[in-house]
Amino acid sequence: MINILLSRWLLAFGLALIVSLAAFRMRLLSPGGAAAAVLVGTMVYGGAGLPGAALLLAFFISSSLLTRAINPREAQTADKFSKGGRRDGAQVLANGGLAAILAGAILPVAGGHSLVVWAAFAGALAAANADTWATEIGVRFGRRPVLITTLAPAAAGTSGAVTGAGLAASLAGAGFIGVLSLLVAPGGRAPLLLAGLTTVAGSLGALADSLLGATLQARYRCLTCGKITEQHPRHRCGGSTTLAGGWAVVSNEVVNFACTTVGAALAGALAGWLA
Ligand SMILES: [Zn+2]
Repeated sequence: MINILLSRWLLAFGLALIVSLAAFRMRLLSPGGAAAAVLVGTMVYGGAGLPGAALLLAFFISSSLLTRAINPREAQTADKFSKGGRRDGAQVLANGGLAAILAGAILPVAGGHSLVVWAAFAGALAAANADTWATEIGVRFGRRPVLITTLAPAAAGTSGAVTGAGLAASLAGAGFIGVLSLLVAPGGRAPLLLAGLTTVAGSLGALADSLLGATLQARYRCLTCGKITEQHPRHRCGGSTTLAGGWAVVSNEVVNFACTTVGAALAGALAGWLA
């Protein structure tokens, strides 16, 4: 039993290492991002096996390819985002850390067949996927972005700005993980319920991300060019930046982690209530 468990975690580590190195070589991950991805991948495969790893890979591959294909950060919005297309360690942990804890630490304690924990795991990834798809597609294809709180017009790429295209992409991104969560329904229990609540919880998680982005997330003003940006302490133009709104402690990564927390909590609660 111990041997089987040990070999599964060793296999998990080996596979996570291979995938992370490949993603690093493809310049999808920074060195720190690759190290974090090894940790997240090992925990997900070790705790949740192949079905869990399939869900994680679906999120990672689809959102990385979307970023690579669209790459809006190279365009006029480049100086609003805090980071470029390569995910670093903080970004990987913000998007995948909660799913890793749920799969690698909570699920084994719950016996491996808890519908609530599986739903929370899928909900966390659905929220991360919905947020990433919404950001990439909304910034590239969205027309007339408005702030989610006041509906005032906002520049493309502003935290908390939403567009019709972005909201549709958010629903599609959550639904993509929702459909794939059919794979992880423990013992084939309540698969359609799991798919539906994963989609709903993931979409609402991404909406919470926009709400936090419009309110508490730190915004900075460049002292040289005057633009509002997430970049701190230096803007890409070289000027230093100063807090212009929100709380300094609420970075983009904190907001992304909160997004996955809302997705996981809603999906777990709905699964416990409905199943
Ligand atoms: Zn500047």
